Amino acid sequence: MSSIASLSGVEVDYARGRALGPIDLALAPGEIVALVGPSGCGKSTALRLLAGLEPPTRGTVTRAAGKGETSVVFQSHTLAPWLSARDNVALPLELAGLSKRAAQAAADEALRKVGLSAALNARPAQLSGGMAMRASLARALVTRPRLLLLDEPFAALDEITRRALADDVLSLAAELTPAVVFVTHNVEEAVYMARRVVVMTPGPGRIAGEIAVDGPLVRPPGFRTTQAFRAAAEAVSTLLAQATERAA
Ligand code: ATP
Repeated sequence: MSSIASLSGVEVDYARGRALGPIDLALAPGEIVALVGPSGCGKSTALRLLAGLEPPTRGTVTRAAGKGETSVVFQSHTLAPWLSARDNVALPLELAGLSKRAAQAAADEALRKVGLSAALNARPAQLSGGMAMRASLARALVTRPRLLLLDEPFAALDEITRRALADDVLSLAAELTPAVVFVTHNVEEAVYMARRVVVMTPGPGRIAGEIAVDGPLVRPPGFRTTQAFRAAAEAVSTLLAQATERAA
């Protein structure tokens, strides 16, 4: 099957030396992959390569999804502070040439899907951290990307909000079917979100292995207490511990 994006024999060097790789990773259309690994192993670097934001030092990056078909969401919301939630979400469509009216109608619909219908006119400073992240998700998805890259999007949020947002991302992914790469430090979040959890070694990060997670894309209530979930989380933790010990 042709991949939506791939890294093949990819390495990245910065001034201080190797930051990533060599790694190989191919994303099938519509699949959800979590990248987990110790701090500084190169997860964000891998995401930037997949986004086409920087080139590799060696190896090949392929991207079937063009620039306009790729959306990236970072840990901080990156909304423009002077624009309302509606205008922030409408912006990528206006930049793509849609009329203001059509862009705002699409923005309202995207904000409705993330539960922000009551906050269309709010500025980012008036939104809670969870609401601002929801608005960022709406902005990322309003263009219906084929590739959605999430770099620790919930790291600054409390546990209850994180869990609610994880469910939001999964139901939006089920509806819009982008391929999703999700970077997180949190093993349970990775297993909840992804069908495939890729574990990286300490920097320069290579792939230590990957764990498949079965079950429906939109997780049923109580999924975190199931045997399948516990077993996958245990397998990811063990792989992470082994990779870290080997490097020590
Ligand atoms: P964390 O989990 O802490 O966010 P990460 O796994 O995402 O880390 P990266 O941010 O990709 O790791 O960084 C990998 C390595 O490359 C680190 O040692 C980092 O200091 C270094 N690095 C990242 N970006 C640059 C850059 N633009 N210039 C120089 N070094 C960089």
